[in-house]
Amino acid sequence: MKNSVFLLLLIFLMSACRPTAVHHCSAPVFGTYYAVTYCGDEDAGMQASLDSLFAAFSAEFSLFDSSSVVCRLNRGEDLYLSEDFVKLLQLSTQISRNTHGAFDVTVAPLVKLWGFGPDSLREVTAQMVDSVLENVGYEKIGIEYGHLIKRNANIQLDFGAIAKGLAVDKAVELLRQRGYTNFLVDIGGEVRTCGSKAGKPWRIGVQVPTEDSEGEIASSYDFPMCDKAIATSGNYRNYHERDGERFSHIINPSTGYSERSDLLSVSVIAADCTSADAYATALMVMGREKSMQWLQLHPELAAYLIYYEDGDFKVARTPNFP
Ligand code: ADP
Ligand code: MG
Repeated sequence: MKNSVFLLLLIFLMSACRPTAVHHCSAPVFGTYYAVTYCGDEDAGMQASLDSLFAAFSAEFSLFDSSSVVCRLNRGEDLYLSEDFVKLLQLSTQISRNTHGAFDVTVAPLVKLWGFGPDSLREVTAQMVDSVLENVGYEKIGIEYGHLIKRNANIQLDFGAIAKGLAVDKAVELLRQRGYTNFLVDIGGEVRTCGSKAGKPWRIGVQVPTEDSEGEIASSYDFPMCDKAIATSGNYRNYHERDGERFSHIINPSTGYSERSDLLSVSVIAADCTSADAYATALMVMGREKSMQWLQLHPELAAYLIYYEDGDFKVARTPNFP
């Protein structure tokens, strides 16, 4: 009798001490990578499911797939939009309103003008900017009975500042459907965590930008993050240089100019990665001072802003940033 109690206790202790198995899968996606870490039993179908989720996602939202829904809409085709597409457009419009147009999904013609689309950078004149601005503005589009309505035919969409975040959230849904509660999804640095990693909080690192786009990126600051998403937008990796002047891939939709923000990067923590991604881009457009004022009215977000001043990297952050 005594022995069997001892044996039971031993089995219990052994199972309590068995470390939770941690699995990884990753592959290239959207011109970057995805990396998923999950705890529990290994799922042999995980990689294939993620790959097909992201392929379906590209077929809707990618500007680099000429047969995608967004490219077809940009060419003027009239299509019946999926529920996901409508939801993303509605959320984009709401975020545009919240940021007074700093984030704008109709920025595509300006992105192209500044050479971040398929064409390379040309000489850009003020006249060209003005005429392209006619075709930009989130208030110039709408949805009626599942169809995109454009105020003029030259209006085009670009989900580049929000789609990666949505893809992270979609992957989170997929992992939950497959029965997991403890995992981390990372697509090119846009990250969302659920639960914990073998009983310990997931840890996230914020990178310090380097001067050139090829430079080493060092992680300067790391912190625990549970059941939240973080996205970073920066102008130090993706830019053109002409006559010593830098043109960032982030565009100010109200001026029409490639943004010369005083910020090098902005990391935003939100409940979901779609919002975190879009707000990070919007804050890059707003610049440091406006962003910090705006953030005071948005305690649901936390932000970490890196800027360069007096020859050094400096940080401004909201008090609720971990
Ligand atoms: P990254 O792609 O490096 O993660 P972002 O999330 O900031 O960076 O997205 C930048 C992309 O978003 C640009 O390449 C462009 O396609 C698009 N974009 C640029 N400016 C804006 C803007 N003001 N609002 C919405 N999208 C933008
Ligand atoms: Mg973004």
